[in-house]
Amino acid sequence: MCTKKFDNEKLTQSFEKIMAGNRQWSQEVQNDETGLFHELAKGQHPDLLWIGCSDSRVPANQITGTRPGDVFVHRNVANVCVHSDMNMLSVLDFAVNILKVKHIIVAGHYGCGGITAAMSKKQYGLLDNWLIHLKDVYEMHANELNAIADTHKREDRFVELNVVEQVASLCKTTIVQNAWKERDDLAVHGMVIQLETGELVDLNVTATKSDNRLKEFYAFE
Ligand code: ZN
Repeated sequence: MCTKKFDNEKLTQSFEKIMAGNRQWSQEVQNDETGLFHELAKGQHPDLLWIGCSDSRVPANQITGTRPGDVFVHRNVANVCVHSDMNMLSVLDFAVNILKVKHIIVAGHYGCGGITAAMSKKQYGLLDNWLIHLKDVYEMHANELNAIADTHKREDRFVELNVVEQVASLCKTTIVQNAWKERDDLAVHGMVIQLETGELVDLNVTATKSDNRLKEFYAFE
């Protein structure tokens, strides 16, 4: 059954657990008679692009109660949307212009390690250069954040403000701006996941064609 053995026993056990999990899931879905795999083989038509954190505790499908085929996903450390990130831009372009998704959710989460790391002065290696994007967000909101005495509350607010800024970041892209010139059924949402309950908290910063808070300076013709 197992396709590969490693010299290290723990490595083998860990790998076998992954493969066994796949076999079980595959069999269960084939047995549930919903024809999911038959549908998936035809193509994908997701309504949602999810931009979330890489953290293992915040999987897009489970959080939204959806199945394979329902959500197009991009994840990175602390759900950052950087305009020079070809990975993020390619996912965004494909989702908006080819898949024609109706909703984009930037999903942060409380207890985000990336946010905590960005608030410290400790070095984590290469990651530090990614965290600078988060430090920039903190700097933009330093007055508000520094006024929060409780460290956990300050972190939580930083998580929220990061999501707010990443939503604004997406709205600045030509991809989203051009999509709004063609259609009005595209909304960009900012939400935060509560790890204790799995619930999504809507930050009410949803941007649409008619209500997007895009500063005039960033508007392309
Ligand atoms: Zn995170």
